[in-house]
Amino acid sequence: MQQTAGSGVHMANGYDPARSVALDPTTADLIRRRDRSLGPSYRLFYDEPIAVASASGLVLTGMDGRTYLDAYNNVPAIGHSHPAVASAVDRQLRTLNTHTRYLTEPILEYSERLLAKFPAPLERITYTCTGSEAIDLAVRIARHRTGKRGLIISEHAYHGTTVTAAGMSPSLGPNNPLGADVVTIPSIDTARTPAADIADRLASSIRSAIDELNERGAGVAALVLDSIFSSDGVQASPAGFLQPAAAIIRDVDALWIADEVQPGFGRTGNWWGFQRHGITPDLVVLGKPMGNGLPIAAVVGSLDVQAGFGAEVRYFNTFGGNPVCIAAATAVLDVIEKDGLVEHAAVVGDQLLTGLNALVDRHDHAFHARGAGLFGALDLGTEDRPDPALASRVVNSMRRAGVLISASGPDAASLKIRPPLPVTDTQCALILETLDAALADEEKTTS
Ligand code: PMP
Repeated sequence: MQQTAGSGVHMANGYDPARSVALDPTTADLIRRRDRSLGPSYRLFYDEPIAVASASGLVLTGMDGRTYLDAYNNVPAIGHSHPAVASAVDRQLRTLNTHTRYLTEPILEYSERLLAKFPAPLERITYTCTGSEAIDLAVRIARHRTGKRGLIISEHAYHGTTVTAAGMSPSLGPNNPLGADVVTIPSIDTARTPAADIADRLASSIRSAIDELNERGAGVAALVLDSIFSSDGVQASPAGFLQPAAAIIRDVDALWIADEVQPGFGRTGNWWGFQRHGITPDLVVLGKPMGNGLPIAAVVGSLDVQAGFGAEVRYFNTFGGNPVCIAAATAVLDVIEKDGLVEHAAVVGDQLLTGLNALVDRHDHAFHARGAGLFGALDLGTEDRPDPALASRVVNSMRRAGVLISASGPDAASLKIRPPLPVTDTQCALILETLDAALADEEKTTS
């Protein structure tokens, strides 16, 4: 088999053949074929990877007919295989699919509607296909605008796959080098830092990073932060802790690039993750949930910030913002608005967080619960000793019980719970009950 024993190491919840359980013949055969034809960098989830045949709403159906409740996927934000997206895409594919060098009306209507969700002065949008391309473009704009090269990112960030974005993704592990002029700040650990100190600690590490980039002669083009620190273990509270950092970045005339690929489009119970902190970024990067599975992503910013780059550099992304993807994104916007999914995320998110906190009270090795809206995290282990092995066992035990979650964070000990937005209160209760049972089983086997 191509994947080596260490292959799961640099991805929490990565499939590791050395640790794998006996697989059913269909799954084993798919893995064999995959290893023979796909590139060797891919990773699968779970000790027992899932062969999926179809999905609808929050339910995935395996090739063996078994169903799973999806409590992890944020791409199908309005639910898997949503009929509104399917028919919008079908209709548009049969009508016209061209690119941004022709005038088409739907891209303008979508842009007007989407930009209305942003605070002033975020008033212009540039489309890409992926979050990585959008990060890349935002960095180019920031460097052009400031004349500086330096980028400040978080220690366990993930920002994507292009040379620039991968060079800003230390969570890919030690074999993935940081880019030139990229400096990291320590991951914020809201579970282990007194709430009153979080904003100050972040601010002081940003000041040190600025000094370092200035000493190197790079200067600072931008601070790039995922507004909910998804790969840094999900760090959401106290709301507002980004404010002092925003003031510092403004003072040195650098840009704030908010990576909203994960928290954007209602996940946190606000349209955008940065809104919880009361800040207005200079550039906002959108992705994943935007097209509910169709490849559409974007950079949003003020005209002022983008004008110089736009005047001097031509940007054409062949598939970025094509009419089919715009049709999907329009359907997503329609459904989020019509079904009140942002408000829904806040309400069911409260239920999720209350339930996770109850698990902390009940289980010795559930140390800290946190989150915002439908982005929940539960740290396993103790204050002194995060327990990634326990997190992995719980994730796999939940998978066996038919509920899909994952783990993340610098220690890979934070369970990450992130269901599609239409999750019902009954489904939320099932996620929590299954997690409760998985933690109780662990206590039985370790006591
Ligand atoms: N930023 C963040 C925070 C992400 O989670 C991801 C994708 N996991 C990206 C950027 C890159 O997006 P894409 O995979 O669409 O290139």
